[in-house]
Amino acid sequence: MLFRQLFEPISSAYTYLVACEDTREAALIDPVLETTERDLQLLENLGLTLKYAMETHIHADHITGAARLRELTGCKAAVPERSAAAHVDQPVREGEPIQVGNLRLEPLYTPGHTDDHHAYLLDAEGCARVFTGDALMIDGCGRTDFQNGDAATLYRSVHEKIFSLPGDTLVYPGHDYQHRRVSSVAQERERNPRLGGGKSLQEFVAIMQALDLPRPIKMDVAVPANRACGETSEGTAAA
Ligand code: FE
Repeated sequence: MLFRQLFEPISSAYTYLVACEDTREAALIDPVLETTERDLQLLENLGLTLKYAMETHIHADHITGAARLRELTGCKAAVPERSAAAHVDQPVREGEPIQVGNLRLEPLYTPGHTDDHHAYLLDAEGCARVFTGDALMIDGCGRTDFQNGDAATLYRSVHEKIFSLPGDTLVYPGHDYQHRRVSSVAQERERNPRLGGGKSLQEFVAIMQALDLPRPIKMDVAVPANRACGETSEGTAAA
């Protein structure tokens, strides 16, 4: 398989490219509108056909590149069904793997940051990776104070769906604000200051309630656009 971790600095967002070397089919997980040209160039350089632009959830901090990528490549937008987003080609549900050539991405329903959130588990060539979106980040997690977020729900999602994976499963988050790139299930289970090290549900809820974070600057634009795979009222959002 081919794998790339890509970074968008304005929203500190990671996009992941996974591709099957036999069929040359690829998926981009959480593409960002502003980096569409970079992503297209990478696909071309590697000789890949984009099959899916996949979302972990409806983002509040940036606009997805899905609609633009679909317009330019004919790929399918794979979005959690629970988001009720418009213009979705492939609704994502736990228990229904997304096939990319010989690779299988297993959606794991992990609500709590948002109520539609899914992580994606990829177990290929002796290495398991979980793309955790904003459910679990390195030494942290996504906020739970809007978009039907709920701290207790996130605690259960992380413990039941992610911390229950083998400890050597690599954790690739949706964001990192300190340029860390990868962790593991064992490391987060032991050291995550919010969710790991035996923290109780009550302790986690108290931590999340005390965060008092500002609203994301792009929220009022990003959420409506992302509910339509990145299309705005003027048509596909311009890069
Ligand atoms: Fe998010």
